[in-house]
Amino acid sequence: MPLRAAIRTIPDYPKEGILFRDITTLLGDAKAFRKAVDELVQPWAGMKIEKVAGMEARGFILGGAVAHQLSSGFIPIRKKGKLPHETVSIAYELEYGTDEMEMHVDAVAQGERVILVDDLIATGGTATGAIRLLQKMGADVVAACFVIDLPDLGGAKKIEALGVPVRTLVAFE
Ligand code: AMP
Repeated sequence: MPLRAAIRTIPDYPKEGILFRDITTLLGDAKAFRKAVDELVQPWAGMKIEKVAGMEARGFILGGAVAHQLSSGFIPIRKKGKLPHETVSIAYELEYGTDEMEMHVDAVAQGERVILVDDLIATGGTATGAIRLLQKMGADVVAACFVIDLPDLGGAKKIEALGVPVRTLVAFE
């Protein structure tokens, strides 16, 4: 089954006019989940990737599986106030306004090769914030990987313009 068919679309969630691309159906389908993780890691199989970074919350599920597959460590990037140790934070752009995301100050070492993973890229605001945060702490962000791309919103192009290659598996209008 193509990955696209395993993704459920919920109209008008979380608000009117949004087509929410729900990956819980993909995660619940053993074959689709494995296929998505295998395809996300494929370009980096056998390469030295020290860490995978995932954005709360769906990026944790996919990023954890990707990290296991690549024998890499995992860096949780969380919304403000959730991490217990000393953190470094960055403001990032949402559709309306800004928010802050954080990671632990010791989550990455200087020059470590890191891949960022999330379920979906829309405007690219979230991924831009995460990449800036990782780079601020000395990471070498080698790629950003997403199951779903919404190309009309231009996020993937924005990330490529930062010099970080993007991998996406399924595009929706
Ligand atoms: P953005 O920062 O605009 O690239 O938005 C990406 C983040 O928002 C990801 O963490 C997604 O999980 C979530 N997101 C944005 N738009 C959608 C959508 N249409 N369906 C599901 N998740 C979305």
